[in-house]
Amino acid sequence: MAEELRLGDIIDDHCSKCGMVTNHSVVSIVDGTAARTQCRTCGDEHKYRKAKGGRKKSSSKADLFAEVLSKIDS
Ligand SMILES: [Zn+2]
Repeated sequence: MAEELRLGDIIDDHCSKCGMVTNHSVVSIVDGTAARTQCRTCGDEHKYRKAKGGRKKSSSKADLFAEVLSKIDS
């Protein structure tokens, strides 16, 4: 059986504020599926966008480089 989803679980979802897939807390569950999630980065709460399925973005070197830079910058 698939893992049971519970409130507070951390899942990947796309945050429109962050503009990327980030860790989200599950804040609402409907029929065993996340209905609403809250971004762990900016705190924005929104409908679960099921980002998991579209998570095939090939992390290009440029992306990784930009991520590293942004971390150093902060
Ligand atoms: Zn966010």
